[in-house]
Amino acid sequence: MPWTLSLFLAITATAAAAPPSPESVLGFRPGADRQLADWTQIVDYFHRLDAASDRVQVEEVGRTTEDRPFLVAVITSEKNMARLEEIRRANLRLADPRGLSPEEAERLIAAGKVIVGVNHGIHSDEVAATQTAMETAYALASGDTPEIREILDSTVVVMIPSHNPDGTQRVTEWYRRTLGTPWEGHDPPFLYQKYTGHDNNRDWYMFTQRESRLTLKGLYDPWRPQIVHDLHQMGARAARLFAPPYVDPWEPNIDSALIAAVSALGTHVAARLTSEGHKGVAVDAIYDAWSPSRAYPHTHGGVRLLTESAEARMATPIEVPFENLEPGIGYDPRVRSWNFPNPWPGGAWSLRDIVDDQRAATRAILGHAARNREYWLRTFYEVNRRATLRSDPFAFVVPAQQKDPLATAKLLEVLRLGGVEVHRARTPFAIDGRTVAAGSWVVLMTQPYSAFAKSLLERQRYPDIRPFPGAPAQRPYDVTAHTLPLLLGVDVTAVPAPFTADLEPVTQVAVVPGAVTGRGPWLAIGHRTGDLVALGRLLRARVPVRWATAEFTDGGRRFPAGTLLVPASARARLLDMARELGIVAHAVAVAPPALVLRAPRVGLYQSWVAAIDEGWTRFVFEQQMGVDYQTLHDRDIQAGGLRDRFDTIVLPSQSPNATVTGHLPGTMPDEYAGGLGPKGVQELKAFAEAGGTLVALDAAARLAVRELGLGVRDALAEERAPSASGTGGRRAAAGDFYCPGALLGVLTTPDPLTAGMDESAAIWFEDSPAFETETGKVLARYAQTNPLLSGWLLGERKLFGKAALVEAPLGRGRVVLFGFRPQYRAQSWATYAPLLNAVYTSALVTRSR
Ligand SMILES: [Zn+2]
Repeated sequence: MPWTLSLFLAITATAAAAPPSPESVLGFRPGADRQLADWTQIVDYFHRLDAASDRVQVEEVGRTTEDRPFLVAVITSEKNMARLEEIRRANLRLADPRGLSPEEAERLIAAGKVIVGVNHGIHSDEVAATQTAMETAYALASGDTPEIREILDSTVVVMIPSHNPDGTQRVTEWYRRTLGTPWEGHDPPFLYQKYTGHDNNRDWYMFTQRESRLTLKGLYDPWRPQIVHDLHQMGARAARLFAPPYVDPWEPNIDSALIAAVSALGTHVAARLTSEGHKGVAVDAIYDAWSPSRAYPHTHGGVRLLTESAEARMATPIEVPFENLEPGIGYDPRVRSWNFPNPWPGGAWSLRDIVDDQRAATRAILGHAARNREYWLRTFYEVNRRATLRSDPFAFVVPAQQKDPLATAKLLEVLRLGGVEVHRARTPFAIDGRTVAAGSWVVLMTQPYSAFAKSLLERQRYPDIRPFPGAPAQRPYDVTAHTLPLLLGVDVTAVPAPFTADLEPVTQVAVVPGAVTGRGPWLAIGHRTGDLVALGRLLRARVPVRWATAEFTDGGRRFPAGTLLVPASARARLLDMARELGIVAHAVAVAPPALVLRAPRVGLYQSWVAAIDEGWTRFVFEQQMGVDYQTLHDRDIQAGGLRDRFDTIVLPSQSPNATVTGHLPGTMPDEYAGGLGPKGVQELKAFAEAGGTLVALDAAARLAVRELGLGVRDALAEERAPSASGTGGRRAAAGDFYCPGALLGVLTTPDPLTAGMDESAAIWFEDSPAFETETGKVLARYAQTNPLLSGWLLGERKLFGKAALVEAPLGRGRVVLFGFRPQYRAQSWATYAPLLNAVYTSALVTRSR
């Protein structure tokens, strides 16, 4: 070849080996005004970086909910990369120090690397982080400064460029669509994670979503990071950047050293950014560290370093006048203070500003990790070591005999996914003179992630924090309870004193198989979650299941009203499901009075003001319980004729104002503007009057009570009055009553709708209504004593004697009012039954079609 060409090739070969800058691939610099790279472009960039750099290794760890690639990028020095597996294994050894000698631990600490996870873009409308990810990765791949060298040598960065690639793609496409319109940069009219929207970062113990599990698979399980930087954005009128310390309270099981460590690290981030001239950095404000739903690392030996940047209008710059800045918990962005030393003067604010702050924050974190390598590894080791010595309680015991075997398996699965060791007793054993059956499970506290298990298995006592006596209580940032045994309806006992038992480790959690017993024309099943999953499948298969309308006895056994009767012709099918789902079916010889169930025609309302509870309802129906449904938008409801098409319409929890008014005209494209309106409300009323079942969940029940003339009133309406936003969110505690997310106890009434619930049941209450009724059936009621089971409740007397679940007649139909979240974040399995019962009983007929 001519020398000119070979020289050209040599030059291009060298050039190709240099890591490409984001700008060279995208054609614009990340953070540029009105420009966003979408997920396809970001994936392309990371693969090119991988190809060009020996410091970067990109892996697709799986596919997302909507089948996009989920990436993890590992970035470290070339030298570390060559022995990456050895570094990873050494870190896992420190994660579980049982059997590790102090000398061996010291050797591992001396040679180890700090593992730093960086999680970008979990909230997809907080658009900056995924753009920042490319700049951070490029800086690490191409940089040659002493600081970059030190970071690469002393740390392994495990980067998730987007935690929610579906949302990154869809929100970017939406944003591009809004450019040049009056709604440029407006939030989209859909949830940016298919089922959970903004709640996708409240999934860190239940792991319901694929992205949560992919993060376990790609980051937490293989790497056990000491630090995870979680990048978010907050309102435009706040500080420019928040970093820890978090405000109180902390989840009480988190090791003290981690509280100190994240406080030191966050303060370092703030100090360094302030030193470099970044303005408006706050610490010790707004965000607390109570709920494990948002902070997986804190119960796994590491710290979650949350940063929250002030938002722009997505990639569109905004102006924020200084006087428009608003105070938050622990600081005032207009006042200089120790935890906010350099106030931002107001003015223009853009995506570029956010990217600059985020990049600087990640660099500060990595710099701290590198320079304090031994400190981070020793803290990790000590925290994990102390966890293995936990002695109070000695263990939690999950008896083999449970009302709901499927929910029990779910509880154990959650623990296993959280890295908790679970044991099973080979033989019966004794605790306090009581015998515990063989097959029962034991969760010993002497293990590395006992803080995770303990926080989820015990009841929470949220502290009442007031700046001075008599002051209003400080509101929590999030909900206040996370007790899985109550949420799932599983019997679990804490055992304080040591005991002996013949235990084997459980590697794969399996449901305790059920059985079909006896012979007879009908097979009776109940309403626990396994039964209800089976019912969904039987109806899909057009098996004519019957619903007993009255209590009956057969062969000396008593069956309550609502018992489901499966024809014996479906025995083989039911037997398979009994094994899989833990159902126990009894054959019955008599044919009690019963109605025939057919698959209900379900409409599920979806507002264009995207409601998270709608997504969760969809998830529970579609992915867990097998309920077919049709999504209904405002116009579908306004079109009327609903009774001809539906047996049940479900209104997920959403503020009445958002539901009825929707987006104001001119603030969104026409097809998304306006809400249900008076016409839609009228059609819902007509639907129920014509014999339909309208199910109103939580905040939606307030709409039903207000608009439908049911003879039911919300006894807490006035308590809610000070909240202008009407979002049902966690407003400041101003009134006498306050309960922003807790587990409360109610007493149920035997009824088809409460079949499968215990006489005293735990419900999820979150700024919910409580009913006083003139007409209608009260199916669950608060007693005359404090109903708090776990979390926080102020002014409990307001609930005494009030109703939590009401079936209100309306014309020939009914409205089922839920004063709680029966399907809360797909966690409250214990109260799925009343929701599904309401749906299924809407389609009862006297004979098979
Ligand atoms: Zn966020």
